[in-house]
Amino acid sequence: MKALNKDQFAAYAHEQISAAEQILGRHRPGRNGWCSCGKQVPCSVFEHATATRDGYRAKLALLDATVMLPVLAPPAEASPVPLWRRLLRGRR
Ligand SMILES: [Zn+2]
Repeated sequence: MKALNKDQFAAYAHEQISAAEQILGRHRPGRNGWCSCGKQVPCSVFEHATATRDGYRAKLALLDATVMLPVLAPPAEASPVPLWRRLLRGRR
């Protein structure tokens, strides 16, 4: 069995998510206790497709777990006194 690299796995995961969403389009649990496919709720196909989609989404999130966050506030003005010296002064 060949191992997939990151990009190959991401492409595979996107295909799996797309397929699961197509299946979910035909299985919508209604308020009347029946799935749109005619099975009684919980529909096993709906449950399996939902678990597959959510599982691959979670795995994709782990692939790109480290992201750059936006800067929400400008940096404080640079002080002429280094931080370590200001901290030491605070102890006295
Ligand atoms: Zn169904």
